[in-house]
Amino acid sequence: MNWLKENPWIKFYETNEEKTQIKSGTEELIKIIALIVINFQMGGKKMWKCPKCGRTFKNTNQDHYCGEAPKTIGEYMERQTEQAQPYLRQVNEAIKSAIPDAAEKISWSMPTYWQKRNLIQFAAFKKHIGLYPGPEAVKAFEEKLKGYKTSKGAIQLPYDKPLPLELIGEIAKWCEKENARYYERKDSDC
Ligand SMILES: [Zn+2]
Repeated sequence: MNWLKENPWIKFYETNEEKTQIKSGTEELIKIIALIVINFQMGGKKMWKCPKCGRTFKNTNQDHYCGEAPKTIGEYMERQTEQAQPYLRQVNEAIKSAIPDAAEKISWSMPTYWQKRNLIQFAAFKKHIGLYPGPEAVKAFEEKLKGYKTSKGAIQLPYDKPLPLELIGEIAKWCEKENARYYERKDSDC
């Protein structure tokens, strides 16, 4: 069995230390494969880590709530970009004056107007303000929202267009009314 002695791979297994080396080498390899698989699942994009809060995101410089989550709408607005802030204030004012009885809070990390449940929410993005009155409201205002990008329950208000403040107020009022109707129905069912 001379070939056994001469085979370098068999020799490699000779000591425990070497066995450990091979084992940790295999673990490293598994880690690398896992990273490649994750990277592949993210569409080949490298993850970006925020240097301030350490959270990782798919997109570099992703907009997010850095550090502790804001507790009020005012706090939320203060933490957004300088570009977004005047738009946020106008949207907030339009909603607030349309439905002054609704409570203000942060829900799902977003400024929210609330009456027993969420009525309408909004949030800042890189190129637009997202307004979330719910899918029924988006449907009800379909005609008036023709110039805006909408998806199920969401309306995009881009920064390069003047804000439709009157319409935002109308939508907020609609949400409040629908909500009241919902609870009337619910109460009469009991
Ligand atoms: Zn961060």
